[in-house]
Amino acid sequence: MSNIRVEAVKELFSRKPLAVEAPGEKVSDYYGVHTFGLETMKKYLPTEAYENVKKAVDTWGYIDRKSAASVAAAMKAWAMGFGVTHYTHWFQPLNGSTAEKHDAFFEPTKDGKMFEHFSGKELTQQEPDASSFPSGGIRNTFEARGYSAWDPSSPAFIVEKTLCIPTVFVSYTGEALDFKTPLLKSLFALDKAAVDVCQLFDKDVTKVIATLGWEQEYFLVDEALYYARPDLVLTDRTLMGHASARDQQLADNYFGSIPERVTAFMKELEFECYKLGIPLRTRHNEVAPNQFECAPVFEEANLAVDHNQLLMDIMKRVARKHHFRALLHEKPYKGINGSGKHNNWSMLTNTGVNLLAPGTNPKSNLQLLTFVVNTVKAVHDYADLLRASVMSAGNEHRLGAHEAPPAIISVFIGEHLTRVLNEIEQKVPSDKMTPDQKTELKLNIGKIPEIMLDNTDRNRTSPFAFTGNRFEFRAVGSSMNCAAPMTVLNSAVANQLQEFRKDVDALMEQNVKKDEAILRILRKYIIHSRKVLFEGNGYSEEWIQEAARRGLTNVMNAPEALKAYIEPRSVELLKRMNVLTERELNARFDIQLELFTKKVQIEARVLGDLAVNHIIPTVIKYQNRLIENVKGLKEILPASEFADAASYQLSAIRKISKHKALILEMVDEMVSARKEANTIEDVRELADAYNQKVKHYLDEIRYHIDKLELIVDDDLWPLPKYRELLFAR
Ligand code: ADP
Ligand code: MG
Repeated sequence: MSNIRVEAVKELFSRKPLAVEAPGEKVSDYYGVHTFGLETMKKYLPTEAYENVKKAVDTWGYIDRKSAASVAAAMKAWAMGFGVTHYTHWFQPLNGSTAEKHDAFFEPTKDGKMFEHFSGKELTQQEPDASSFPSGGIRNTFEARGYSAWDPSSPAFIVEKTLCIPTVFVSYTGEALDFKTPLLKSLFALDKAAVDVCQLFDKDVTKVIATLGWEQEYFLVDEALYYARPDLVLTDRTLMGHASARDQQLADNYFGSIPERVTAFMKELEFECYKLGIPLRTRHNEVAPNQFECAPVFEEANLAVDHNQLLMDIMKRVARKHHFRALLHEKPYKGINGSGKHNNWSMLTNTGVNLLAPGTNPKSNLQLLTFVVNTVKAVHDYADLLRASVMSAGNEHRLGAHEAPPAIISVFIGEHLTRVLNEIEQKVPSDKMTPDQKTELKLNIGKIPEIMLDNTDRNRTSPFAFTGNRFEFRAVGSSMNCAAPMTVLNSAVANQLQEFRKDVDALMEQNVKKDEAILRILRKYIIHSRKVLFEGNGYSEEWIQEAARRGLTNVMNAPEALKAYIEPRSVELLKRMNVLTERELNARFDIQLELFTKKVQIEARVLGDLAVNHIIPTVIKYQNRLIENVKGLKEILPASEFADAASYQLSAIRKISKHKALILEMVDEMVSARKEANTIEDVRELADAYNQKVKHYLDEIRYHIDKLELIVDDDLWPLPKYRELLFAR
């Protein structure tokens, strides 16, 4: 008899690491060769066109037709030099993937010949048939068209003989159908608001960009084992599996040596990324076995988001080549570490100043404090919206469990900044400052760079932590598009900075000196935002209770958490920042709910199928063996010995019957619950029904299957076990 699981393990043992060859001697020889960035543009474009593009990118402006035509011609010439035959507008629809529709550069001419063609119009705008992408009701079927439009701030790139042009994706009526559109708008809002605040400190600042450095966590699993687990294939996570006797408790995986096959995969991943100008820098093992992380050097946020989306695609492709599958799900395995995507975020001025890095004098440190405190207040005021931006069917399994921040949004700023903020709160008077008070405060603010240098007590349990020269948003899920959380963060901070500038101006109009006005407003904000600051252990039970006492929200399930998207204050914020309209937000909310419902629906189907068609037949087989054994014992043993000899088997037979009956009963109930839910038409009620009436069966059924895994003969168990999925490689 063949067991697919046993076969898979055998296959795995025959694997060897693939030989991987570097594309050149030094990274600088091939870094970015497959991107049409500003440098390449400069080489290929007439000076005037190049200057126009550069200016448009710097000033959020438009590119005129003539320059667009030049760029198109140059891009085509450049791409064809690499044997490229097709081009595509590359965009990020709201289902979380990236989309492409490939068109050939060639067009037939009247005389039946082919003609290579790629115009400015084709570069800047396309009309992909977009009816299959989620629109949340924005796009009616009679106007199923969507438009994609070139984003010149992110370089075009080549993947497998196709020229990919980063674009936004909007409906016929101009509403955003993607992640990029609102992200760009939020970056614009942040730029304006941050420049206005920087002007209080330095008149030379005319532009501020957001910077993002993501850290991508993922699991690898051998493809033979993967195919033997229909739940992994269809849902990207394991819906059953008893904990391995050993998993991450020895904590010996983190930064341990990387297995050879994995090293080969990582090398190739890096080569591919370097060719596309993705500056990957670190790679290491993560906390859980077979879990890894990679992170690039930070970049401008829009570019960083594109690079992360691209990385996830490349990662899946390279993993296949190495006979792995990359699991990007937030919680592929129950009971062990999930995968996140830490978003390191800061702001950078055109004068080269990181606005969250300590400076060299009291003035620049007052600026640092200004940006830190305003960010803290933004997070305090829009914690629910931030949580909504990272909630999904996958991430709800992760937040609050095993080395993942809780669903309570709090901010860690470190001991030293805490001290400085306390001092401002206590020592800045609400009316005029004395010269002594001023000197003392200035002195202390001046000391910030020294104290920050030894700010090593990094708290890894906080969802939103200040880490010396940036904030790190750790609640983002590994499979997500970083654009959603970045859009919310940029918008909330932009809004807050506007408010700050207004507040400071108001005081200055009353003849309060600038520094004093700034300090007074900061003090007010610190007091206002107190409750979101938390320095302790975010994983602890005490924090959950303490947070509740403070009135911080803790919403663990996606449909509830997502509701923050359509709260009046959220709508108000995003409308005011000109990032998303109420209609767009409602659409986004519905799309996220639909995704949630579909994921739970698929998981419920897969679990039902596996339970009935894989697990139940297996346990009956084993139970029959036990029954045979018991019958045999009865035949050959005297009655006095039989009871002892058969006691284990009899108890196992009974246990199997009990678990089997419960599984079958619950699968039936789950199917009915699903059928009943499916009669609901309203997207929101449907998601609630799946959340409240269907989802819980997944864990309840699993419980009994996992118990059976411990009873049934290892030889018969059909699905690769956790110990194999996690340790075999
Ligand atoms: P850790 O695992 O300790 O959090 P890593 O070195 O893995 O740290 O990741 C740190 C990330 O922070 C990198 O992606 C890095 O580029 C990013 N980063 C550093 N400085 C900034 C900044 N000013 N703005 C945005 N991201 C930054
Ligand atoms: Mg980190």
